[in-house]
Amino acid sequence: MKISCYPYRVEFREPFRIALGVRTGTDSVMVEIEQGGYTGYGEATLPPYLDDKPEHVMQAINDFAHFLTPLRDSDTARIFLRADQNLPLPAKAAIDEALWDLEGKQKQKTVKELLGIGNSISNTCTYTIGIDTPDEVKRKVLNVPFGFWLKLKLGSPDDIACLEAVREVYNGSLCIDLNQSWTDKRMAMEMLGRIEEFEPEFIEQPCPKDDLLLLSMISHSTDIPVIADESVQGPVDIERVADFCDGINIKLIKCGGISPAYEMIERARELGLLVLLGCMSETSCGIAAAAQLAPLCDWIDLDGPILISNDPFEGLSYNSGIITLDDAPGLGIRKRGLV
Ligand code: MG
Repeated sequence: MKISCYPYRVEFREPFRIALGVRTGTDSVMVEIEQGGYTGYGEATLPPYLDDKPEHVMQAINDFAHFLTPLRDSDTARIFLRADQNLPLPAKAAIDEALWDLEGKQKQKTVKELLGIGNSISNTCTYTIGIDTPDEVKRKVLNVPFGFWLKLKLGSPDDIACLEAVREVYNGSLCIDLNQSWTDKRMAMEMLGRIEEFEPEFIEQPCPKDDLLLLSMISHSTDIPVIADESVQGPVDIERVADFCDGINIKLIKCGGISPAYEMIERARELGLLVLLGCMSETSCGIAAAAQLAPLCDWIDLDGPILISNDPFEGLSYNSGIITLDDAPGLGIRKRGLV
């Protein structure tokens, strides 16, 4: 197996603001693994709050490369990948995705088939709107492609005015992501009461990631599902939060790829948790990887390719908010311009 990687800057169609800051794009590292004439693709998205820089991630991938060189099968490569303690999680995710893509191409099966997931994707994807003024939020809502659920980022003094602006023009399913912005108990309870009136499908990460007491208070004070995102990174965190929220947001970049994400979904189900499958502004490559697991999840927030302007891959599309993948083997995507 031969592994290579290169940096890629993903550009957003519009600047994207969440409670943690604003940005116009995201640095990524693309991974390719070749064997027997086939190439598997993977993607490490590196949003600034993760602290993993492209040079560091590429160095770590290149350091891992010589372990892969003599290997003949993806199963052994995934065991090595799981054992490695030095690779940053986004790098692990990219390598894991590329190994699954490669194996699918070699066996002429989709990754979904390799994983034994029979049913097709039926859940409607959310479309994310970042923090903005109520007027801008309303304008953006009116431009959301048909069929998508709306996911609204909140965490500014205009939150209620934004929700009112949304409901003036949209009465469909609405999801809310607070990105840790409710920092005290009184404010959280007051905001919760007001937000309930807008009937969101779920409320994501309302409070700081390590404040499990506040998370617990919020989730036990409302019938609306409260989903932990930043509080949950990898498999071990599921047990830590299981009693204090209703569900978890699983992202390949956070946990290290398709393999650990699949395990996390299984564990979450054993613990009675709901599962949201999320993303970090990936191109069609990382999103196609996550989408393999979509049939196992309650909600999917995989809108990366719609929000970016320079997707280097094709093969994934959205039909009335439902992700459709080419039936091609592996992840079902190909590099633009390549046959
Ligand atoms: Mg989130």
